[in-house]
Amino acid sequence: MSQVKKSGKMLNATNKLKNEMGRHFLAIEQAHRDDKPTAWATAGTPVELLYTMGVQPMLPENSATISAALKKSQNFIELAEEEGFSYDLCSYFKTNVGAVLSNADMSVGGTEKPTFMLSSDVICDTHVNWFQVQSERLNVPHFTIDVPHVVSNTTKRQQEYFKKYIREQLWELLDFISEITGNEYNLEKGKEIALNSYELGKVWQDIFELRKNIPCPVSTRDTFGGLFPLFTMPGLKSPIRLYKKMYKEAKERVDNGIGALEQEDYRLAFMGIPYWYNLRFFSNLEKWNAIIVYETYVYAFSKYTNPNITKEMVINNPVESMAELMLSFWYIYDLKTRFEKLKETVKAWNIDGVLMHDNLSCRPNACGMYDLKRKLMEEADIPSLVITSDMNDPRKMNEAQVLNQIESFIEILRERKKR
Ligand code: SF4
Repeated sequence: MSQVKKSGKMLNATNKLKNEMGRHFLAIEQAHRDDKPTAWATAGTPVELLYTMGVQPMLPENSATISAALKKSQNFIELAEEEGFSYDLCSYFKTNVGAVLSNADMSVGGTEKPTFMLSSDVICDTHVNWFQVQSERLNVPHFTIDVPHVVSNTTKRQQEYFKKYIREQLWELLDFISEITGNEYNLEKGKEIALNSYELGKVWQDIFELRKNIPCPVSTRDTFGGLFPLFTMPGLKSPIRLYKKMYKEAKERVDNGIGALEQEDYRLAFMGIPYWYNLRFFSNLEKWNAIIVYETYVYAFSKYTNPNITKEMVINNPVESMAELMLSFWYIYDLKTRFEKLKETVKAWNIDGVLMHDNLSCRPNACGMYDLKRKLMEEADIPSLVITSDMNDPRKMNEAQVLNQIESFIEILRERKKR
């Protein structure tokens, strides 16, 4: 095995991400100082509606990744396990339980006690159970949004019903927030926030469009870190400026034929959540001149991927379009739709192979992965590799073993290129 030659070039703009996230955490502190309403929210919930209602969001999943990056997550997870939570449960959840138990500071992944909690099962049931546990422990109200999943034989009529069902819950959510905070829904503010959220998602998608170029101008160093504003700040202006800077720099690279890697031989897609405690792991790909050019997880959170959801729709009907968005999320797609979408992606981004993270924490993410892998190979001749690990629990990562698997996989890709 050859040695790592160099580091994939990060965009200068991505360095500004720290300031952006710093702004987010300052806003949380300020809200607490001023006694303004705050809410914990799970990924996939309409955070935009919180901003519209004057509520400062906090995302414990985001905080859990901070703990992992600072090598603190294992300690928090073990604390939660001492409380009786199983080794097999989601490590984001357990990181949060441990962080709360230890009164951890926000700088190491702690999360302040909120005014209320907002969850949804759009991505997983864990989100709902997690907030159920924590809202009882912290004694705060909890609102959850139920999102039906679209399966292969879901009819158009059923989909319309699903939309209506979600829409009603969103209006109920607004009533719930009004009751707790005294703040009323303001349509004009709703429109402004919705427009900002739309723009944020679209600039992010534009960055991904640039990654179709060979060589690819943007590596995972930029995207795995750069995605956090999509979770925490959709609806604000400042992250749009940051993404525009990232786009501009990436475009200059494309115009000058510069890639994030000096030599790009293999283009890969990554499915699933990365290993937050070991993001440096991905630099290992560089020794084989391989680069990840598309991450399904990172792209999914740009939200506005359904072409039926137009800018006009979003601005004119902010609440209704949120309902539509929640039904267009990668996570609720059935196997057939995931396969078709991945197949299209592989073609459009010129991908040689797919790395799939069989995440021991996240069954909804990993469920059907082996079926998807088989379908990709048998029906579309797309090679893929399943890697078993965990996004926040370093005890479940065997780096040497995973690297050996990837090396063998690259060997397969090399042979295929010779054909
Ligand atoms: S990692 Fe998976 S199980 Fe855990 S909260 Fe996220 S989606 Fe849910």
